[in-house]
Amino acid sequence: MTRRRNRGLRGPRLVQPHPKDEMADAKQVAGELNRGRGMPGFRQTEQLVRDLNEIDQIARKVEYPSSIEAVYTGQLGEMAKRLRLRVDRFLGAVDFKVLLGMPSQYGWSAPYELSFKKRVNKSRRHIYTPVGFILDAAFSGHLRSVAQCNICQTWFVMRKKDHRSCSNSCREKDFRSSDNGRAKRASYMRRYRAGLRRRDRENLRISRKKS
Ligand SMILES: [Zn+2]
Repeated sequence: MTRRRNRGLRGPRLVQPHPKDEMADAKQVAGELNRGRGMPGFRQTEQLVRDLNEIDQIARKVEYPSSIEAVYTGQLGEMAKRLRLRVDRFLGAVDFKVLLGMPSQYGWSAPYELSFKKRVNKSRRHIYTPVGFILDAAFSGHLRSVAQCNICQTWFVMRKKDHRSCSNSCREKDFRSSDNGRAKRASYMRRYRAGLRRRDRENLRISRKKS
């Protein structure tokens, strides 16, 4: 075996496809993103996931056209193009080499080896650690389920497409702050106060009868 090049960084193992947990790769991405959050420069890694998912949304709006040109044309296409440019700039700083790993029950493992171009400062290389996982999830179609909680900013895997919050407690907070939630709460309070007034009147009537 040849010695690893100094500049190389052994990338993460590809997450094995697992029939019992088909979202394993998406969960891995969410975990990696939460681990890296707040580290210097890591916003770029998070941005990569947002950009890839936004381009996916744009392509979905035009019903996933069969040609790549069609994704990048029209008004939405211009947006997709800008996002894609940012993705390419970020990924362009590294070379990926796929190293065939070993066969397993669910398929081959293939760790990536990343090597960095000179312009990537050593202190910023950690921001590329999750990239292998992110790409794996993008290729499997599971990256679109990886989202950031709109309340606490934690990354999580959506179980339903419209989930915006990571947990029940965040979903509750989100609902309370939403227009719908506020309206429901206001109507509950109106009924509650009406109930109080009714009770007061009842009490008054009863006390009058007694006297
Ligand atoms: Zn949350």
